[in-house]
Amino acid sequence: MTPPAYQRFVQLPVWKRPEIRNRLEWYLKVSANQAPAKYLIASTIPASVSSDTIHSLPLGELWDLFQKNLHELISLWEQAKQEPKSIDISHPSETNLLDIIGEISNKTLQSCTFCRWECKVDRVKGEKLGTCQLGTESRVASYFHHRGEELVFRGTRGSGTIFFSSCSMRCVFCQNSDISKDKDNGALVDAEGLAAIIWDLRMEGCHNINFVGGEPTIHLHTIMKAIRHISRDKPSREAFGQARWTKSDGFLPFRSGTNYYDYGGRFNAPILWNSNFFISEKTMSLLRAVVDVWLPDFKFGNNKCARRLARTPWYFETISKNHKLIHDWGENYVIRHLVMPNHVDCCTKPVLEWIAENLPGALVNIMAQYHPDAYANPASPEYNPRYSDISRYPERQEILDAYAYARELGINFEEITFEKSLQ
Ligand code: SF4
Repeated sequence: MTPPAYQRFVQLPVWKRPEIRNRLEWYLKVSANQAPAKYLIASTIPASVSSDTIHSLPLGELWDLFQKNLHELISLWEQAKQEPKSIDISHPSETNLLDIIGEISNKTLQSCTFCRWECKVDRVKGEKLGTCQLGTESRVASYFHHRGEELVFRGTRGSGTIFFSSCSMRCVFCQNSDISKDKDNGALVDAEGLAAIIWDLRMEGCHNINFVGGEPTIHLHTIMKAIRHISRDKPSREAFGQARWTKSDGFLPFRSGTNYYDYGGRFNAPILWNSNFFISEKTMSLLRAVVDVWLPDFKFGNNKCARRLARTPWYFETISKNHKLIHDWGENYVIRHLVMPNHVDCCTKPVLEWIAENLPGALVNIMAQYHPDAYANPASPEYNPRYSDISRYPERQEILDAYAYARELGINFEEITFEKSLQ
């Protein structure tokens, strides 16, 4: 039975649409505490070595161990998708798959390959920094109940969104440039502080934990350790105190109730990865073990536009490959495509064509809210006329052309894009 706290959410008309429900079934069940989040399943898979051994193993051997355990996780997850109650999550293993993932993330920091840049800089020493400009620190600029995400994510109580600082891409028009371009924006958080943020948001009834930025991938080590933390213990009072410095909404924890996060007596929350998707293949496989629903961007339809407007190489092959991975893995996901002025022919159309051909039935949000920002904003002192092609709002006709083309291709976008009647 759905806990009372989430009844209004699961009864939203949007969930009666099979083209949406079938694609997000797992996420909905975890969100309504009818199924355990993947990280809870992962926590029951024994690492088969002690925690001391995990710390001492070289990275190559940790990856072997991870791959072995990932197979087991996937088979349990497939079973849970059919019958959640058949999976017993009440007894986490002392040392488990989440410890292996945490250790891999930690060790990878010494030659960082979290995102597709694969800079291989030592972020622990910090003598040389990669594109993201980060050492080991993670900063959260703000966290709150987001009321502006897609209806399936914001629901009735908001999406529990955590904004991390800095980014792996350099979009000249970034709509969040205050945090993506400023690695020092926000408050420092460690893994337990982040666990407290996650706990806070879910305790207040958020439907998901929405990691975004900037870009969450570049903070993988902190996020993975925080997820491990919520699978074991409630964060300390000090961690909650630290976390609330960046809380920026009016929800107060005293309104909370365990109905919001309880599954089998454990803390349950669906993990949402809201990303530019410029992610390395290895990181994708780690994320597979903990992400319940994906929200990737697919911005550019060719590498020339990606290089010029985001200073990002290997864009199309990286982003398309990662989309194909989550599709082939049977994951729940919604793709976001932002229509940019003067880029319908070179970006929107090729992106939609690729999706139609490779990801049949995928849910796509075709977004019309582009506004010129950062270096593309003529009103900003940072404005660079090189980007005059995107220095205006998209015209009505450009948006209509994008929709018409998506219809022609048979893309599954109408319900997720035009959602007002479904709430
Ligand atoms: S996260 Fe990406 S950009 Fe940052 S150092 Fe690692 S590989 Fe480079």
